[in-house]
Amino acid sequence: MTYDKENIFCQIINNKAPSERVFENENALVIKNINPRAPYHLLVLPKGEYESYTTFGTNATDREKLDLMEAINFVIKEYHLDDAGYRLVANTGYYGGQSVPHFHIHILGGEKLPTFGL
Ligand code: AMP
Repeated sequence: MTYDKENIFCQIINNKAPSERVFENENALVIKNINPRAPYHLLVLPKGEYESYTTFGTNATDREKLDLMEAINFVIKEYHLDDAGYRLVANTGYYGGQSVPHFHIHILGGEKLPTFGL
């Protein structure tokens, strides 16, 4: 699958669309979800052109992976999510319900989340 450069997260990363940025480093960006499903609902994006966890995991450099983890850790610390817990989600592809074809990790917290029987 070829990466779609028109997707909204690519536009946000390149400052061609607005977003509420809460953190960034060289290779990752954190924005607030425009349609939050929990009191805290952040999206962690690699700045590189990866459409899924799979392409990121396969092709990203160690530095890019570390920067993504640093961004996740920032959010957890900034919003004190470790106190009561949180959830990381990476919807992937059609079956996974991914709607934006740029790899992103949802971080949800701030209330008891439904478990979907998992
Ligand atoms: P997914 O379904 O996992 O691909 O998630 C995409 C997420 O991006 C959804 O939760 C949307 O609410 C969110 N989203 C879409 N457009 C924007 C935007 N412009 N700024 C922030 N979040 C967005």
